[in-house]
Amino acid sequence: MPTLLIASRNAHKAGEITAILGDDFTVQTLAKFPAAPEVVEDGDAFAANAVKKATEIAAWLGSQARPDLVLADDSGLEVDALDGAPGVHSARYAGGDDNAPDDANNAKLLRELADVPDDNRGAQFHCVLALVALGQAAEVRTFEGICRGRIAQAQAGQGGFGYDPLFVPDGHELSFAELGREVKNAISHRARALAKLAEYFR
Ligand code: IMP
Repeated sequence: MPTLLIASRNAHKAGEITAILGDDFTVQTLAKFPAAPEVVEDGDAFAANAVKKATEIAAWLGSQARPDLVLADDSGLEVDALDGAPGVHSARYAGGDDNAPDDANNAKLLRELADVPDDNRGAQFHCVLALVALGQAAEVRTFEGICRGRIAQAQAGQGGFGYDPLFVPDGHELSFAELGREVKNAISHRARALAKLAEYFR
């Protein structure tokens, strides 16, 4: 099986990717490479950040015992009534230049939407994966996934991470945090992007 390094320190993302891809790849995380650099996510689109993370980590690996593939995930929440915010700023929505705790980001989102009625609370999770195959021409492929839904009036559920307690996917009445791992990993933005990646290897 090819080895695939997930270029992320977000344990939740790595866990979801491993659960979905684990049968087809030997998955590694950056825990195996503690000296890997922190990549600055200063792009204005998910694809730009995902490509930057994958290529910088691939370049840093150099000639070390290398995985076959490096995979980066850049993702976030786009809210219709906020013109697509928080978007690429999802992790640092309530934190200025620094990432903020999930609860602070969720509280800010609820404040921003306080006067927005239920029928205008549409939103989507958006994920772009960037894949670099080491040892081949420096080519990067990207795979995109979107999951539509709406923002609830209050947080609910303990599962998942980030905005999961506020996001109710289309076709459901419960949040991602309430629906749990199995349902989320079948329909999420990340699952949809990973399905395209798996298709590419088929
Ligand atoms: P990134 O590490 O810059 O891609 O930041 C992603 C941020 O978007 C996370 O910190 C979360 O706030 C949000 N996000 C991305 N994917 C998810 C998800 O599956 N559930 C909930 N929040 C997510």
